[in-house]
Amino acid sequence: MMKKTFQEDEKTLNKSITSSLNYPTQTAAFDNESSEVVNRFQGAMLGLAVGDCMGVPVEFKSPNTFEPVSDMIGGGSFDLKVGEWTDDTSTALCLAESLAEKGFNPVDQLERYLKWYREGYMSVTDVCFDIGNTTREALYRFEKSHEPYCGPKSERSAGNGSLMRLAPVPLFYISDPLLAIEKSGESSKTTHGHPLAVDACRYFGGLIAGALMGCSKAELLSPKFSPVPGYWDENQLKREIDEVASGSFKVKNPPEIAGRGYVVKCLEAALWAFYKSSSFKEGCLMAVNLGDDADTTGAVYGQIAGAYYGKNGIPENWISKLSKLDLIQFTMCNLLKKSMNIP
Ligand code: MG
Ligand code: MG
Repeated sequence: MMKKTFQEDEKTLNKSITSSLNYPTQTAAFDNESSEVVNRFQGAMLGLAVGDCMGVPVEFKSPNTFEPVSDMIGGGSFDLKVGEWTDDTSTALCLAESLAEKGFNPVDQLERYLKWYREGYMSVTDVCFDIGNTTREALYRFEKSHEPYCGPKSERSAGNGSLMRLAPVPLFYISDPLLAIEKSGESSKTTHGHPLAVDACRYFGGLIAGALMGCSKAELLSPKFSPVPGYWDENQLKREIDEVASGSFKVKNPPEIAGRGYVVKCLEAALWAFYKSSSFKEGCLMAVNLGDDADTTGAVYGQIAGAYYGKNGIPENWISKLSKLDLIQFTMCNLLKKSMNIP
């Protein structure tokens, strides 16, 4: 079962990283931190951004209609430069910063997403060049109402827009797996209120929490894993998400596995790539080469694979190519300090 408690980790970590988290001058010291938990923490955020970037050239392309991606090359529909990332990473940075500065505050989260949409805040190009329909609908509603949970619930709104940015939530609740699951679901409701989007986030938030705790891949991908034993017996998942959590990705292959925007297919595809591969790189290429919503399949894969393999398991030359890497590290560093109560 679980390797160790975070309380134990925190004690040693607090001592070892307090002095090394003084951004920006000491980022290098932070990067050299050897602690496994910090390695996994960084892996989840950087994995998200790397996966997003890797999918850029083939986003919206049908499977088997393109030369498979093998490196970080940019391009795609938005003609991005190498290392430039998209809405997945922008919204994840907004969420991470909100958690670090305000704790879990859905109105503040939405204010930052709105600032991204209207002003290009946390965008790699300083404008918002891509936004999903469901997120946009929620932000229009938020602009008028200022309500905390603006996510549409209609049938066609079960997209992957809340799953793609999720990692900061389980990272913020690194010492409380129960809250990691529950707040993951709540974080979806700001823009994605459909029960399938909410449940995908609850389940995936639990998986990331488990990976941060050092669970093995077999454990994480065992039927209906939860870092809180028996949690899904008491708090059942919707049938479609339950099927994925029970291991649908182990018995399917493309074209049944597809990198679609529908949150069920997206979650399934990301877990398929994680299950069928044995390194961050191998799985990442499998995920994005499904095409379609490739950047988001990559970003979802990157969160769990990054948490599992750690930052050290992500190809160094992919991380170093990320645009605005300083901004990503600064935001990640502030979230880490807040998560672990480091002044
Ligand atoms: Mg995107
Ligand atoms: Mg996408």
